[in-house]
Parts: sequence; structure tokens; C-alpha cells
Amino acid sequence: MRKTIILIALLFAGQLYAQKLHTLTNGGKLKPEQAIMDVRHYTIALNVDIANKSIDGYTTVDVIMAQPTHVILLDLLDSFKVSKVLVNNKPQNFDYKNDMIKINLDNELPAGKASVKVFYGGKPHVARNPPWDDGFIWTTDSTGHPWMAITAEAAGGKLYFPCKDHPSDEPNEGVDMIITVPKELVVAGPGLLQSVTKHGKTATFHWKTNYTINNYSIIFDAGDYAVVTRNYTTVDGHVVPMQFYVLKEHEAKAAHHLEILEKTVHEQEKYFGEYPWAKEKIGIVETSHLGMEHETMNAYGNKFRYTKVGGEDYDGLMHHEFGHEWWGNKVTAKDWADYWIHEGICTYGDALYTREFEGEEAYIKSFQRSALSFENKIPIVIGKDIDEETAYNNDIYGKGAFFMHTICYVMGEDAFFPALKKFVTSPKYTYDNLVTTDDVEQFFSQESGRDLKPLFDLYLRSVNKLEVHVKQQRNSRYLIQLQNMSIPLPMDITTDAGTKRMIVDSKGLVVDSKTMPVIDANTFYLKKVIME
Ligand SMILES: [Zn+2]
Repeated sequence: MRKTIILIALLFAGQLYAQKLHTLTNGGKLKPEQAIMDVRHYTIALNVDIANKSIDGYTTVDVIMAQPTHVILLDLLDSFKVSKVLVNNKPQNFDYKNDMIKINLDNELPAGKASVKVFYGGKPHVARNPPWDDGFIWTTDSTGHPWMAITAEAAGGKLYFPCKDHPSDEPNEGVDMIITVPKELVVAGPGLLQSVTKHGKTATFHWKTNYTINNYSIIFDAGDYAVVTRNYTTVDGHVVPMQFYVLKEHEAKAAHHLEILEKTVHEQEKYFGEYPWAKEKIGIVETSHLGMEHETMNAYGNKFRYTKVGGEDYDGLMHHEFGHEWWGNKVTAKDWADYWIHEGICTYGDALYTREFEGEEAYIKSFQRSALSFENKIPIVIGKDIDEETAYNNDIYGKGAFFMHTICYVMGEDAFFPALKKFVTSPKYTYDNLVTTDDVEQFFSQESGRDLKPLFDLYLRSVNKLEVHVKQQRNSRYLIQLQNMSIPLPMDITTDAGTKRMIVDSKGLVVDSKTMPVIDANTFYLKKVIME
């Protein structure tokens, strides 16, 4: 997500969005002081001063230290003043510079549980063009009410709360957010609303999620919201509230919007299994920026612009963001190097909606179109310990999705779709258990009963295309060979006798045809056909 990102749903409608502008980033090489620290929980308690565009309060970070230490290191952008730091309730000395709080402990902290409480305040970084860059978004709705939101996929949690800002560590026991705003506003947040307390001119909203959550989903929104609710029954029979925090001025549109959302979630459950946060809620909140996949409270700013899929209203933006509840939020890459697992498989899920409601041909055509849009300048996976900004490029969406399309063809639908669902519903690859590209590769190799590494290498770790060599041997006889692929692959070959799925390898396959054979007419591969 992104940060950005978003979006792309619309890739399949042939639109690609603007480039990101922000330069803030997170991830990369894990700092040694943070490698020994496992974050268990965040409590974020802040007063929001709308007029001043500032926040103040505290964040408590509960951690388990793997070994004794004299130093605790937390990330926080230099936008604030830090007034006090307590470790296990004792004040400590600290340095706050270069977007980090370095806490110099008086005495060695033993291994085990510790609680770090940081008091701070100031004006958070403001986004210039969200969600393409990150920051706080301070605006008003058309009736003049204040309206605020946050995007942080690239900047990370350190945009506004002290944290270990690395994708490999999510708070296993969730987050409490205690946010105070002027009393005419409503706060939307992750998990379930515990309480609303009014005091004079302000109101405090306590949101709590017990699920593990990525740092960039730990955000809140505030506005003149109505809450429109509808119950959703999951594929496994659990009843989950769907809640739409919609500007009061758009409340009349909410009921139909939730109908569309229900269809979207239902279709994704078919391929990916039960909605991942069934004990809490399905949430969306109206924002002034286009969108972002915030766990259990997705940002929605597509202004109710629907297209038709299968003759019915469809919101591609919302479908894409919801796909991230599985790909990004439930299945999470531990290194941004493997960002394609979020964006590529999520975008593949967008194409599955087309498949479901417009049929196989429309689905295949959507990939034929998207194959023309890849940049193919740098590999999708460029190494390890890559930060978010460096890892982000357009191909993680479309080419990542196309890769799934290819794997589906190679394995065959009857094997691929159950395998995909098995991956996203397996405890080994979900929630607390973060994943890498190697995990995906090993899983699909195992499920298909063959080593798919050469295909992963070609699509993800290189910018090369599959090279298919077609050589005429005599009048109506052709030799078809794979040139840069060590494993045999199925391929549609069209001859004068029609189209047949055949196995092609590097040694070659001989076909007889009075017409020149056509290779992979439906474009299941990114390929180059070389005729001789
Ligand atoms: Zn996305």
C-alpha cells in the first residue's frame, strides 16, 4: 500500500497513477539496537489541536528485550519536542536527533519485558500530495468542518509516534489509541471503539485492536462523520459489523456503498478465505485523499465514482484497498524488498473480480492490456534490507500481478487457486509470521510439485522476458525451444490444427503446421518470440 498507493486497481482500467513525491522512508537495514527489541504493544494518547495543526501527549511502547542493554532506540521524526522519557516508570536521559530518540539508561536493563513511555508534542509533517507522499492532512469538508487524516506507508509510524519503524516488527498484541479532538468531531481508528468521553469542549475516543498491525495502519482520522453500519456474514459464518465513517454531507450515499463493499469482500473471501479481522470490524472512513489500506479502517477518497463490472456498480479503488486486508495486512512482507507480495498479489485479486463477474475472456484481456504497461527497468526484487522508498515502483503492481497470472497457468487453475488460498490462510505465513519472496517461492514449488525457482528468478529477480525460439526446419515443420529457462513449461501453441497446450523445454518440441505456429496467443507469459 502504500503509500501509496494505492491504487492501482485501476491498472486494469488502463490508468496508472502519478509517481510518488515523498522522500520519507522506513525499513532497510535493521539497526542493531532495535534488532534485540520485539515490540509487543503501542499505546498512543494524543490531543489534537486542529487550529494549530499540532498534537501532544504520549506514546507507550511495550517491548521484550532479547538481551540486557544500556540503550533503547526509537524512531520519531524530528518534528516534535520530547519532554520526558520513562523506562519502567523511571525517568531517563535521552538524545533526540536525526529522527531518533536514543535513551541512555542509568542502569543496565535486563532481558525481558520493558515499558517505554515518551511524552512529546509539536507539529507533525504535513503531506503535500497524499497519498503519493506522507504526512498529516488538515483540511475542511464543504460545510466548513475540520477534516483530518494521516498517510504513513513510506514515512512509517515515526511520522507521529515513537516506534521501531521497521516492517519486520509489528506489535503482536495490538494498539490502543486514545485521541482527543474538539467535541464536534468524530475519530475513526483501528479495531473496536471502546469509549467516547466528553469533557467540556473536547471528546476522547479510545480505539483498540488486539490484532497485530503494521505501523502505517496505526493512524486515525477525524471529521464530521456519521457512522453507517451493516452486518456482514463471513464465508465461515461469523457476523462482523461493517462500519462506514462517512462525512455527514454524504451520508445518503453510504447504504449503496456498503452494498458494493459487501460484494467486494464476499468475492475476495472466495479466493483468499475468511475476512482476516472477523473479531473486530470491516471499516472504511471517508478521506480527502484517494485511499490507503489501513487495517480495519480503510481510507476511502474515491468520491463514490463507480464503474460497471458485470453490469453492476464497482469501486476499483475500494476493492484494491480491501485486497490489502489479506495481502499486506494479514500476509506481510518482513522486508520492503518483497513489496510485490502486497501490491502484486493484491492487484491480481483485482483481476479476479473481473474474472468472477465478467468471465475468463475479460480477465485474460485485462492481463494482455496490462502487459503493455510494464516498465521493466529494474527487477521487482532487488536484494535484501531494502527501504520502502527504494523498493517502490510501478512494476510491483502490474508485473507482480502478471506473475501470479503466469503461475496460475503453469500450475493449472485447479491446483493454483486452492494453493493461493492455502497460503493466505496458513498460520505459518500470516499475522505474526511475516514472509519473504523465498517463502512464496518455496510454498508454490511445494504445492506444484516442481522447482519454480527459475520462473521466480526470471520474473522477480531479473528484467528479462521468457525467450521462445521458433525455427523452421522444413516446409511445414518447426522446432520450438525455451532459451533462457531451465524448467519445461506448458505453452499454448496454435498450428493449422488449432490451439493445444503443450510442454516446451530447452531441448525443443517439434510441431507440424502449414501455418507459422503462434506461441502463447492469450499472453500467459511475458515473453519474446524469436523466429528463425
Ligand atoms: Zn495497493
